[in-house]
Amino acid sequence: MVHRTEPAWQTPVWQQALSSALTDVDELFEYLQLDKSQLPASIAAAEKFRLRVPRSYADLITKGDPGDPLLLQILPGSEELRKADGFSADPLEELAKHQAAGVIHKYQGRALLIVTGACAINCRYCFRRHYPYAEASAHQGQWQPALEYLHKNKQISEVILSGGDPLALHDGTLSKLVDALQGIPHLKRLRIHSRMPVVLPERVTGELLDLLTRSHLQPVIVLHINHPRELSEAARSSLEVLNAHGVTLLNQSVLLKNINDEPALLARLSETLFSARVIPYYLHMLDRVQGAAHFEVSDARAREIYQQLREMVPGYLLPRLVRDNSETAYKLPIL
Ligand SMILES: *Cc1c(COP(=O)(O)O)cnc(C)c1O
Ligand code: SF4
Repeated sequence: MVHRTEPAWQTPVWQQALSSALTDVDELFEYLQLDKSQLPASIAAAEKFRLRVPRSYADLITKGDPGDPLLLQILPGSEELRKADGFSADPLEELAKHQAAGVIHKYQGRALLIVTGACAINCRYCFRRHYPYAEASAHQGQWQPALEYLHKNKQISEVILSGGDPLALHDGTLSKLVDALQGIPHLKRLRIHSRMPVVLPERVTGELLDLLTRSHLQPVIVLHINHPRELSEAARSSLEVLNAHGVTLLNQSVLLKNINDEPALLARLSETLFSARVIPYYLHMLDRVQGAAHFEVSDARAREIYQQLREMVPGYLLPRLVRDNSETAYKLPIL
């Protein structure tokens, strides 16, 4: 289903869904019938990094189950407040790497453009949870330095919109950005890293489809799905529409303790993704960001899981197990 574009005076359905997301911890506990004895810890953790979960995503969580793998991705908890060795605020040392406001050009031929800090969902393990977006993103109206950088660097053929979630930008804003990018002759591909089509399927509007497909830039969306249950019926139909419009769909997951650290589950994730026409791309080792240590899967366990996964799925459904790091100009394979 394509979500129709409302008249200009009307707030789009996806923005209404976004603003009705759950951000109050007390309300979340109520909504999901969770044990209130955990509430104070959650409130304390949410003060450091806000709770945010769309209601449609909350509806996929089993009520009363504190171990639900979807819940664990979004529920603030006391573990986040513990200090852990080797975990820091900016594990990839990204802040030192900006070439122009919001541009991270570390990999050959591809440049990352941080366009917003906003997200539809706040994932507790997010490596940018401490990121100072206000200083380090290219805001609308201030795109000029970033665009000039892209213009000048003729070896860049792919722009990756990142954030935050770039699809948190309104269609009108994105449309202006895509038009500007279109004017850069050496660019061939427009890649968007987004969790929105899955966590807020209403985001796939007719206008979005239009701006993604009207230019010569080949559109790629890299989704972020960690568990097969995240692929709701609504998410699947949004992905179907994107696919039908010629948008290449890839997925990256993060290997997360107690959430998806089982080979059979990852095999099921790959199969489910493919049934929604999404190709598994990366399986990331956790970035060692402060507050996320309890999600970490050891290298030894990760290798074991991956070895078993390899035996369970066809080669084209095996994501690459990688670690991001501040040294190499590519994601480092773990095996
Ligand atoms: C991950 C990343 C990319 C994209 O890498 P691919 O291997 O092309 O998916 C580009 N630039 C930076 C800085 C990255 O961290
Ligand atoms: S940037 Fe991605 S991983 Fe981080 S909170 Fe937003 S949607 Fe989640």
